[in-house]
Amino acid sequence: MTSFLDDFSQLVTIKSPEDLRQRPRYYPLLDSKQSELAEVLAPYHFGEPYPCGLSGCRTPHQNGYLVVTIDGKETNVGGICGRRIFGESFTIKANLQEKRAQLKRQLDILEHVREQKVGLLARIAEQLNRPAGVKWSEATLRNLKEAFGPYIFKVLREKARRGENIVEVTRDATKEERDRHRVANPSARPLQFVTEKVGNLTGLDMLNHDPLRVLTCLKDKLHELDNLDAKKLSPRARKEWVDWAGGIERTFEEVEGVLADALRFYTRENLKIMIGLGSTPQDQMRLAMIQWSNSEMRLIYKV
Ligand SMILES: [Zn+2]
Repeated sequence: MTSFLDDFSQLVTIKSPEDLRQRPRYYPLLDSKQSELAEVLAPYHFGEPYPCGLSGCRTPHQNGYLVVTIDGKETNVGGICGRRIFGESFTIKANLQEKRAQLKRQLDILEHVREQKVGLLARIAEQLNRPAGVKWSEATLRNLKEAFGPYIFKVLREKARRGENIVEVTRDATKEERDRHRVANPSARPLQFVTEKVGNLTGLDMLNHDPLRVLTCLKDKLHELDNLDAKKLSPRARKEWVDWAGGIERTFEEVEGVLADALRFYTRENLKIMIGLGSTPQDQMRLAMIQWSNSEMRLIYKV
């Protein structure tokens, strides 16, 4: 056996004890004393411990190796008993085969993504272009930013960042309120302002995400994967790619979540509540003109 990590010629995949038992040359019980190791074929990691195939051990191992002896018999052994019976060469071969199995798993994951590329790109395009999709949400957000102006938009964005959905307005206290306050708190300072809750914004978390960037990044990586030779990557870089592959579905879910939030965010009620973001009557009057059209799914101005 060569020591090339990408030599998978002897590697088999063992997922359950059934995979062991189905192999024609598998022996559930081998005489430890008569057995000499030829090769380690595969590591395995079972859900439950499974009895060792070496007569001198028989301990149930949850993690072990499928080995083949020089007379062509296969059985399963543990890491420690394997070393005891077969010596140092077992450990070297077992470690090498473990590394190969890991590399093969990683390459298979990336190959699977490559095979799915056309379908994944279609899903990205669908999320971007659907009627209330990412392009719509981006354009609407740009319009909102323009309509609100940088200062009020920043206030809104800060609220989103803090997860603060409540909008409150502070106004001058009325004469009745001042009087009541004086009676109830004779030694306190006179009441000048009153803060009132206007309402709770829905879907505000939308502002904490950038679905266009997320989808663009996913698309770029899918194209990059085409020309990627994953075997040549450093173990660390390869793991980053595998982790990325593992997160693809989460990316689509994240975008779905943002789009659902966008539909909850762009509503007449929310725009009414957001009038309260204006700190002056002039600002509030200006904000009151920005409204939402359900039929056109966009911001409109009512004068
Ligand atoms: Zn054992």
